[in-house]
Amino acid sequence: MSIFSSFKTFRGGVHPPEFKELTRDQSFEIMPDPKRVILPLRQHIGKDAKPLVKKGVEVKAGEIIAESDGFISSPVFSPVNGKVISVGKETNSSGFPKEAIVIETNGSTDTQKLEKLEFSTVTGAEIIERVKHAGIVGQGGAAFPTFVKLTPNKDRIIDYIILNGCECEPYLTRDERLMLDRSHDVVSGLLLMMKALELKKGYIGVEDNKPEAIEALQKAAAPFSEIELAVVRTKYPQGAEKMLIKAVTGREVPPGKLPLDVGVVIQNIGTAVAVYDSVVKGEPQITASVTVSGLGLNNPKNLIVKVGTPLADVLEFCGGAKENAKRVIVGGPMMGFAQYDFSAPIMKATSGILVLTEDEINTHEQTPCLKCGMCVEVCPLNLIPTKLARYSQLDKTEEAENLGISVCMECGTCTYTCPANIPLVQWIRLGKQRVNQMNSEKKTA
Ligand code: SF4
Ligand code: SF4
Repeated sequence: MSIFSSFKTFRGGVHPPEFKELTRDQSFEIMPDPKRVILPLRQHIGKDAKPLVKKGVEVKAGEIIAESDGFISSPVFSPVNGKVISVGKETNSSGFPKEAIVIETNGSTDTQKLEKLEFSTVTGAEIIERVKHAGIVGQGGAAFPTFVKLTPNKDRIIDYIILNGCECEPYLTRDERLMLDRSHDVVSGLLLMMKALELKKGYIGVEDNKPEAIEALQKAAAPFSEIELAVVRTKYPQGAEKMLIKAVTGREVPPGKLPLDVGVVIQNIGTAVAVYDSVVKGEPQITASVTVSGLGLNNPKNLIVKVGTPLADVLEFCGGAKENAKRVIVGGPMMGFAQYDFSAPIMKATSGILVLTEDEINTHEQTPCLKCGMCVEVCPLNLIPTKLARYSQLDKTEEAENLGISVCMECGTCTYTCPANIPLVQWIRLGKQRVNQMNSEKKTA
């Protein structure tokens, strides 16, 4: 293993206060099973999984309850022992009702596992099959089924895989904890994915604000000359795929293109651990590692939680909200979503739940644009957020598309910077949805 520091950085970006000290020193605690779990059939990008169970049947923890439906889809496993009490629409963390299976738990904690595969002799094809069958999805936010990224088209040449250990969102420390507490499994997960992709080179990119994690990974990866540790500069959004690829390999992903187009596969730290667990321990993806934090929460923690656990149960397990709590966010403060329905469940890719006070959120009145240009200055993708948001507000979908709205990665840097408190990224997100709708209507016309 070798280590290098990358001084390559990107244009723009910001340095928001980190608040990582709230949970950084806390190893994972395992939360007991809740009374019931809600399991949306789509916890990934792609098609809903197809339910295999009906109301009234008994299920075991680790049993498949919904199978993948199509290439970009992922199966769902029961995380608990209990009885299916409904199959139908439930609100998830997006705030919209979606198809889900609800299971009432019976208190038994036995878990059924898949056959364990031998780390040293497992083949690439077996790794891909296992990752697919175990329902592993990316832990970096988008929840893309992991096996799809491990099976790129034959005409693509992939040179590297990069594990993204930047965790540049403020507050979140679950990846940092995984790098510290399970550094050997992170490295083993990377080696398994390298075998699946037939790669001779893998990188782990970590921001330089995590010296202990860097040290732990250095030790764990020491025997492997095919792994390089890239220490990158701390700046938001350094963990965005395009920014990390540039810092680690020097390659630029052109607008509208994917990491695969420049020969790189990116996976998250949590994904590497999930791949390792599925192959070597035979564990389907039935838990999520989550940072529960914020100054408005009584006992911030890093938790291992059963997928499907209602947010309310998780907050209660962490001592509940303080009196001055103002807002709950699922995800990080820059890219996460405000949450108002706490019966919504933890999903496979949930990374954090934050309970924030008035001091931690922007409650200032929105004013008209000051034309200061700060949003343009900080946008890492050279976009013009003020114009994109304006076009979205005015429903000028064609104009927004021509100005590159679809390229926006919704990092929230522009919104964070705007002195007029304009919710730029929220408008841009809406504009992107309209562009997608317009283009799919054009296709079907
Ligand atoms: S949210 Fe989009 S427009 Fe705003 S800074 Fe990030 S990439 Fe640029
Ligand atoms: S940062 Fe806000 S106020 Fe300044 S130009 Fe952009 S939208 Fe206008």
